[in-house]
Amino acid sequence: MLNGKTAIITGASRGIGAAVARKLSSLGADTALVCAGKIDLAEAVSAECRSLGVRSKSYLCDVADFQAAKELVGQVKKDFGGVDLLVNNAGITRDGLILTMSEADFDAVLDVNLKGAFHMIRHCAPLFLRQKRGAIVNLSSVAGLMGNPGQGNYAASKAGLIGLTKTVARELASRGITCNAVAPGFIDTDMTRALPLDREELLKTIPLGRVGTPEEVAQAVVFLLEAGYITGEVLRVDGGIAM
Ligand code: NAP
Repeated sequence: MLNGKTAIITGASRGIGAAVARKLSSLGADTALVCAGKIDLAEAVSAECRSLGVRSKSYLCDVADFQAAKELVGQVKKDFGGVDLLVNNAGITRDGLILTMSEADFDAVLDVNLKGAFHMIRHCAPLFLRQKRGAIVNLSSVAGLMGNPGQGNYAASKAGLIGLTKTVARELASRGITCNAVAPGFIDTDMTRALPLDREELLKTIPLGRVGTPEEVAQAVVFLLEAGYITGEVLRVDGGIAM
């Protein structure tokens, strides 16, 4: 069902986005990999995808920039002949307690995590509507469901994505277009490796007793991209943290 489709995956140079790109390629989809600066990493992932016999290209684009996102979608359409799937995975953190968080850190996280997804959906939706098909998955987080001390900006962006997901799902459902979210818990990537955490204490908060892998999140993303009768859903991949 994903065979021959074209997917845009933002934040695909590493971590969860790279795992989604690899998984989609293994299922026969062509992939447009988007990153913010680490184009060498994105190109390496793209080469892995091509080695699986599908088309893949890497692109530099700051998804927080409305116009740049528009140009990106236009370029992908030109390069691949269309766009069928969108995975809004690009994300950043700028952690800090509310009492000390700067306006710049709040804005930066909202601009990439939430507005970036809006920009990509805004520019892909007209294509999806014309085709009367398309599927979107947004990467939210358990922080958006539960809150997390030190992550007011991040949790707000991820909770905002859930509202955006459900609204887009309702607005586009009549044309057969789905929009869902995945809410990962603690996944082993650069993002979490950068956190100053006591790993043993952390594992005590996870019912399954371990952190997740990017591949486990990718599996859920691909499931939702394929599932034609699920829309507006938020699927946790969190080892039970937020149950
Ligand atoms: P990561 O390893 O830190 O990778 C972030 C990716 O986003 C990179 O490809 C980066 O590109 C890209 N990116 C950052 N800013 C961008 C921008 N302005 N425009 C375009 N691309 C941009 O992240 P991850 O851990 O895989 O997380 C992926 C998503 O899952 C994020 O939305 C994150 O919030 C969410 N999530 C992660 C976890 C977790 O435990 N890891 C948990 C819950 C939710 P460059 O490489 O070029 O910088």
